[in-house]
Amino acid sequence: MKFGGTSIGDGEKIRNVAKIVKEYSEENEVVVVLSALRGVTDSLEGIAKTLIKDSKEGTIEKFIQEMGGRHLSAIEVAIPKEEQRIEVIETVDEGLRELQEVLLGIYFLGEATPRSLDYIMSFGERISAPILSASLRSLGVESKSFMGGEAGLITDSTFGGASPLPESYEMIRDKLEPFLKKEVSVVSGFIAENSDGVITTLGRDGSDYTASIVGTALDADEIWIFTDVDGIMTYNPKIIPEARTIPIISYLEAMELTYFGTSVIHPKAIEPAMNRGIPVRVKNTFNPSNSGTRIVKGYKKDKRVVKAVTAIEDVASLMVAGAGMMGTPGVAARVFSALAKRKINVMMISQGSSEANISMVVEAKYGEDAVRVLHEAFELERL
Ligand code: ASP
Ligand code: MG
Repeated sequence: MKFGGTSIGDGEKIRNVAKIVKEYSEENEVVVVLSALRGVTDSLEGIAKTLIKDSKEGTIEKFIQEMGGRHLSAIEVAIPKEEQRIEVIETVDEGLRELQEVLLGIYFLGEATPRSLDYIMSFGERISAPILSASLRSLGVESKSFMGGEAGLITDSTFGGASPLPESYEMIRDKLEPFLKKEVSVVSGFIAENSDGVITTLGRDGSDYTASIVGTALDADEIWIFTDVDGIMTYNPKIIPEARTIPIISYLEAMELTYFGTSVIHPKAIEPAMNRGIPVRVKNTFNPSNSGTRIVKGYKKDKRVVKAVTAIEDVASLMVAGAGMMGTPGVAARVFSALAKRKINVMMISQGSSEANISMVVEAKYGEDAVRVLHEAFELERL
């Protein structure tokens, strides 16, 4: 079960998550993957960038105080009994002290490498997981927390977007399997380690990916991604209120939807589960009895024909057209290599069967450049 930042925005929500986990763990073996509290990763990234540019006296202290305040008030609500809080408060304090030192380092150096950014951004998950774990214990559920690396998630050294090493799957199983029957392990999402023990991250929103890796390593019956909507929907409900939840969808369809902007699940999160045939379920933390969307192998026919509609915003559409293109080999190659040379990525391509036109879609920010590049590339033909 993976819970994202919106599911654990404050102490009350953390307690709600602990209750959901408790309920399901009574009849199932559950491992939890947890994000940072809502907005924490963003503010960690923000402070690092501020410190590089210009920072005033006291910026770091103020930041650490705010972080501490926010987590401590969450702890107060998530763990009602004072004597049960002591240990987790110590863990959080220790984490924040370490963070303060790292930030000071960034401030003095005036730069942050991708490696140090990963280290800084890891703190959100490093302190959220112990809080949920303690909240579970306060409800009488045996629980321990693990950082990604501690749970066996070892990656390459691509800081800012690392990939798991193949041996991770076995390591995770060796680490977590012994606890399955006795307690609920809470694993920090998003963060991992390289083989030298240096902290890496799987890239923004990477906790879904962690959940899929961990679920696959443990050969789970299902991987549940909890979010704040009832599942994958037919449209974006913010634009079209009549949107419905899709009860079942194939891995490939879900991947296609996530690539095209459906944000409830990270596109990478489907792959490990798909390779092993483990169903992924998207569920609502605030409506847990709803069965959500089940993502499974194989294509399920639906009488509605079109299952879902999604959209990418801020794109530009271009068309290269002319009778001279008909039956002339190499025009498409020239169009796309001219764009590629200027590092303009093409998102979609179509050519009419008359061959008299080629259309393509690029990000809006490349639109004008793309037109210029194509004018240059076909300068002679355009005379
Ligand atoms: N906390 C990380 C982020 O905000 C990872 C996640 O929430 O999935 O990107
Ligand atoms: Mg997410």
